This record gives sequence, C-alpha cells and structure tokens, in this order.
Amino acid sequence: MDETMSIRFWGVRGSVATPGEHTLGVGGNTSCVEVRCGEQKFVFDAGTGMRGLGNAWAAEGPVDATLILSHLHWDHIQGLPFFGPIYMGSTRLQIVGSPAPELGVRDALARQMKPPTFPVHWEDLPSQHLYRSVRHGQVISVGDGVELRAARLNHPGGGVTAYRLTWRGRSVVYATDTEHYECVDPVLRDLAEGTDLLIYDSQYTPEEYRGDAGPPKVGWGHSTWEAGVQLAAAADVKRYALFHHDPSRSDEGVAALEKLAQARFTESFAAREGLVVELEPEAGDGERRAA
Ligand SMILES: [Zn+2]
Ligand SMILES: [Zn+2]
Repeated sequence: MDETMSIRFWGVRGSVATPGEHTLGVGGNTSCVEVRCGEQKFVFDAGTGMRGLGNAWAAEGPVDATLILSHLHWDHIQGLPFFGPIYMGSTRLQIVGSPAPELGVRDALARQMKPPTFPVHWEDLPSQHLYRSVRHGQVISVGDGVELRAARLNHPGGGVTAYRLTWRGRSVVYATDTEHYECVDPVLRDLAEGTDLLIYDSQYTPEEYRGDAGPPKVGWGHSTWEAGVQLAAAADVKRYALFHHDPSRSDEGVAALEKLAQARFTESFAAREGLVVELEPEAGDGERRAA
C-alpha cells in the first residue's frame, strides 16, 4: 500500500495570474495545491493552476478526487472551467466548501460557467459532482482515513475557510486569503498546532501592509511573511510555506522574502509552481523539485 503523503504546488500566486519573464521561477498561476494521500487525490482551490493538474490527473486514468475550496473569489475558482476531467463522464468530483452568505458553492460555480462569460453550462457537464458543506469548527471525513477540519478566518466579501487535512498521523494546513490581527489569530494557531506543513497567505511585506510607500493594505484581507513566521512559531509547525504571492512580486522579490522569513523561522520556504513536499511518517520530511 502506498503510504506517501505529498503536496504539490500548481498555482501559488494571489489575486490574478501573472505570466511573464519576472515570474518564470516562482510561477504565475493562481492558487491550486494538490495533496496526495497514497492513491487518494485532493486539491485545495481551483485557481488557474488547476488546468495543469487536470492534464496530469487525466493522464493517469479516470479521476476520482476531492476539491476543497477556501472561498469563491475568482483567483480560487477560475481554473475549474479549464480542468479537463470535468468534461469526462468517468470523473467523480467531491466538492467541499463553505457557502457564502448570499450564494451556495454550487450556485457560485454554476454562475461562473455559463454564457456570456463561458460557452459551457456547469449543469451540462458529464462529470459527477457531490457537494459537501462544511462550517467553522467542523471535522468531516473526505476519504479513507482522511479528516478535514475547517476554521473560519478573516477575509472581506463572504469570509474564508482554512483547513487542516490529516491522514495517518500527518497533516497539512491550508490557510490563504486571511488578514492577521495585532496578535496571532488564536483560531489559526489552534488549527495549525504541530502541523507538518503550514501553507499561509504571505502576500505583503510588513512595510507594504502598513503603507510605508503606497496605500496601506489594512482591511484588504491578506497577510505578511512576518505574521506567517509568528504564527509558525506560535503553532510550533514543522514547515511554513509562503503562499499567495503578490502579483507584483518578481522571482527575486519572492526569494528576498523567503530569506527574511528563514532568518526568523528556519523551516520557511516560498511556495513555487512544481515544488513537491513529501511528508514522511517518521524519518523526516523530504523535498524534491519536480521536472
Ligand atoms: Zn486570493
Ligand atoms: Zn480572496
């Protein structure tokens, strides 16, 4: 039996896709993170990185997977219409999310996929979809031995849900699109306590957030690498991934923030497209760069 638990980054950019010569190293696709628990497939968010993931999964055969949505902002769902397996009758997709106050997950996805903004209706897809609603504090089973715990965080326009996915004693926490407070968010510290990998919204520098140059970003619903290292230390996580990079951040800019974070919390790294992190049960975590 395959005991491997791995995380692969398919999209790490915040807000909008940013292809171009300055983002070739880190990647320009928006939020999409694959989690494999042995043979079982999961994906956090359906940003533009999901197109490549769909091609990879389809090449392996019929797709039976779980899509876990943090919230319904465009940069987290826009890749779904280009996720090839939804056009295959053999595909089964469990979709987990928190309903927005004004619109359920199913209706939001259907609204994104219909003319005049897209030629195909969500309702006409041949793939099978099972919707699962999850609320703050709930723990649900999303697979064979796979538990998902949900927590409500701090993001404008309907809020956001963070998740802790646990399988065979290992866990990953996906916490993007959240704004930190003056102190470490106790809800998030509790969710992330002792996790193997914390993936955290690190869109801004503290200077950008405060507005030292340009408009302050307070109230915009995003966080900083500095709040990330504070959280990582407070929650005693094993590794911290800077995620949801600002669209204006070049490869060099991301590398500079990664260095600053590492100086404060050694096991920090910047999420990059193609990066795979394996969570070993006992013998320490491995990491390799995929082709
Ligand atoms: Zn976002
Ligand atoms: Zn958002």
